[in-house]
Amino acid sequence: MNQKAIIFLADGMADEPLAELNGKTPLEAAHTPGMDEIARRGENGTFLTLPDGLPTSSDVANMSVLGFDPERNYPGRGPIEAMAQGIELAPDDVAWRCNLVYVSGDGVLRDYSSGHISPEDAAILMRDLQEKFGSDEVTFHTGVSYRNLLVLHGKRFSSAINYFKPDSSQDIAVAELPLTPKDDSAEARDTIAFLNDLGAKCAAFLQSHSVNRGKTSPANAIWPWSPGRVPKFPPFNLLYPGRSAAIISAVDVIKGIGRCGKMDVIDVPGATGFLDTNYAGKVEAALKAIETHDLVYLHVEAIDECSHLGDLKLKLQAIEDFDAKIVVPVLRALQDRNVNFAVLPDHPVPIKLRCHTTTPVPLAICGNCAKCDQVDAFSEKLAPQGTLGFLGGTQLVKKLLNL
Ligand SMILES: [Zn+2]
Repeated sequence: MNQKAIIFLADGMADEPLAELNGKTPLEAAHTPGMDEIARRGENGTFLTLPDGLPTSSDVANMSVLGFDPERNYPGRGPIEAMAQGIELAPDDVAWRCNLVYVSGDGVLRDYSSGHISPEDAAILMRDLQEKFGSDEVTFHTGVSYRNLLVLHGKRFSSAINYFKPDSSQDIAVAELPLTPKDDSAEARDTIAFLNDLGAKCAAFLQSHSVNRGKTSPANAIWPWSPGRVPKFPPFNLLYPGRSAAIISAVDVIKGIGRCGKMDVIDVPGATGFLDTNYAGKVEAALKAIETHDLVYLHVEAIDECSHLGDLKLKLQAIEDFDAKIVVPVLRALQDRNVNFAVLPDHPVPIKLRCHTTTPVPLAICGNCAKCDQVDAFSEKLAPQGTLGFLGGTQLVKKLLNL
């Protein structure tokens, strides 16, 4: 029988020592018996998830953890999320992530999420944008909350555009965050001019929209970023011959990576990507999926969101919730089964910086794939002292599945 494994992926969990925690990181300060058990029972090390020269984003990082080689295969965030939504991209289409953002009256990008706009309000705005500005050349697609999509159709458009990631660009003047061409093609220049014009029209329309009335962080602008064309990924069961995998996440970008890699994407009702997510539903889905798959990738987004908010108290709570409501129940339910486990973040989001950094992440694995080293808790500081060493590429999944 094939070896089974579960990866617990805590988005954005790694951090740096903080004076207000007496020099501890949030992960060290939080009460995390589940993750500590994996570290204590098994082996610890680090994993390079964000290679040089690529965006420092969750899609790249999660591709790395799964071994999908982003340096070779990264298509851009837009196409990954289009896959997640089941949007068929034609060869000439360029798909963009399109945040609904808040820009203050003085022209500064204040909130990449429009105050974590509700999915219902966001759906109304995206529908109305499509009605008003949709055409043969542009389509607006509703995602979840502020995470939406824009697809440009036709040969006149290019994906060779540099952009600024909105969650890393808060409190900066929009004028300092322009789209710029990556090459000197007419298509790249034309695409930028088209989007600048569209963006101005959308902002004028959103500014007076009834959904935005009375809000402190109204969704009064669109923010197109990470464009790309239809993805070409190696399927999981070819990359890891004959092995099957399921992926569980609230957010489109992670589901999209699963779809690109032909993994089974499991939707959990009430999974929100924030602190109010349906933890019990995700655990139930993971326990069910492990019966019929070799690998289950269980992703939780909330910690990343709390880190971007710069809210230490929320981050600590999100880490403790992840441990108590995800890791512990799964470990307990499967304690008598031959299942390997791994826990890791996809990248750090230091609460002081409120953006992703490329420091290799701590990793702990346990089960029959792991020896037992001397590390007795899961943390950024202790993991590099373990015997697992520094992993990358397909090494983690191969190890977990005994390949
Ligand atoms: Zn992430």
